[in-house]
Amino acid sequence: MAFPGTGKIWMNGTLVDWADANIHIGSHVIHYGSGVFEGARCYSTPRGSATFRLDAHLNRLFDSAKIYRMEPTYSYNELHTAVMDTIRANAFKACYIRPLVYRGYHTLGVNPFPCPVDTAVMLWEWGTYLGQDALTNGVDVRISSWSRSAPNTFPTLAKTSANYANSSLIKMEAIAEGYSEGIALDTFGYLSEGSGQNLFVVRNNVIYTPPITASILPGITRDSVIAIARDHGFKVREEMLPRELLYIADEAFFAGTAVEITPIKTVDKITIGNGRRGPITEAIQQSFFDIINGAVEDKHGWLEYVYEGEPRQTVSAAAPNAASGRR
Ligand code: PMP
Repeated sequence: MAFPGTGKIWMNGTLVDWADANIHIGSHVIHYGSGVFEGARCYSTPRGSATFRLDAHLNRLFDSAKIYRMEPTYSYNELHTAVMDTIRANAFKACYIRPLVYRGYHTLGVNPFPCPVDTAVMLWEWGTYLGQDALTNGVDVRISSWSRSAPNTFPTLAKTSANYANSSLIKMEAIAEGYSEGIALDTFGYLSEGSGQNLFVVRNNVIYTPPITASILPGITRDSVIAIARDHGFKVREEMLPRELLYIADEAFFAGTAVEITPIKTVDKITIGNGRRGPITEAIQQSFFDIINGAVEDKHGWLEYVYEGEPRQTVSAAAPNAASGRR
């Protein structure tokens, strides 16, 4: 989906017009991928627009910055306010939320320390990522010939721009060969995740997902799926998983802010289960959509209403932790 090219983007404390939200070609991040970022969503509900787990996304942003030794210029509360203000400034009902903290313009040595830590919040209206049909009927995927990063190379618990070079290789290979997505293994050969989403496998009524030691990004949607699955009384196990478990699974699905919950129909042309969205996938998907659509009580407190004045008590009342900026 092409960008709208209009609206406001928040940059270092100021709302600027879309066309003016530029950075210099000499910025460190452009050359060395020295940025961390988030991808969250705001949904339209009957009670008004609400962000989904924005607190968890901002906390992960501060974690990513800490791993990369970046001292954020703005506190948790300032960034939270920036996101809410930018949604309101654009009068969006529903949108994708992209906060970025990155090394800006100063020098181009590999050492990022001399470069300023700049911050931006960009929003746009973004519908279904893999298409509406994908949410109902599932997608065809392949195991990627690219692995996720080995431990001690690129830290996958950080959502850093640099990690998306690997994601792009996985995604391009999949598309070039006629698949919607690729699933990467870790460097030990265990299932890891998709190019931009976590993986769940269902077999004999047990839900499995790779653990954080399998070179995954610890997804906020993954965490939500685990909570929803446990609410339903399903068993969830975070375990190292062999590739072939996927081939003999009853059901499999992706979870991520962009893909939301998307069933997987085939892997390497092997049909998963009966080739249709399975009952456990459907139950979790339905509960997830009921929450983000405001159709059921938000018992986990995941929604935060944008146009209701002050942010939710738990966010606004908490003092940010001075060391990390976390709330
Ligand atoms: N893994 C990767 C590599 C991702 O880019 C994403 C999207 N941020 C996810 C998993 C899912 O994370 P989340 O549910 O927080 O969007």
